[in-house]
Amino acid sequence: MDDESYKHYMRRCQIMLPLIENQFSKHIIKLSKNPESLFLEIILDDFIMVDILPGDDFNVLKNKIIKQIKAKMKDLVCNVCDESDILPMSCPKCFQLWCIDCYISRFRSGQGIVMCPNCKHCVGQKMKHENIQMCVEEIMTSFIENEY
Ligand SMILES: [Zn+2]
Ligand SMILES: [Zn+2]
Repeated sequence: MDDESYKHYMRRCQIMLPLIENQFSKHIIKLSKNPESLFLEIILDDFIMVDILPGDDFNVLKNKIIKQIKAKMKDLVCNVCDESDILPMSCPKCFQLWCIDCYISRFRSGQGIVMCPNCKHCVGQKMKHENIQMCVEEIMTSFIENEY
């Protein structure tokens, strides 16, 4: 690829990246450059890697990522209850995976604060008892809406 096409490629990446971040907002997204091909790759939650190829538009990229997520989800097990039939949530720090049920039971027992069983990282904030149920329902709905 010559300089001009590479610049064009980088510009396209810069345009698509915020769209990708928006689409996969519940994931942690990092970017790195493949040292051989010099193409950028999107790294999702530290375990999914997708190259951005020059011809890729947003939809192509989105579908590549979804395909990989689905493939990976097939062999995932919840790190808390060991059940395989799960919808994973992940710890923002150590990327341990939990099913939605385990997440919600921790959310309830922590009264809004969810502590990762692995690295003890906490997310959320303490809330009043009467708000807990409301939030649980919100988590469930947003989770279902985010299904691919
Ligand atoms: Zn679980
Ligand atoms: Zn953790």
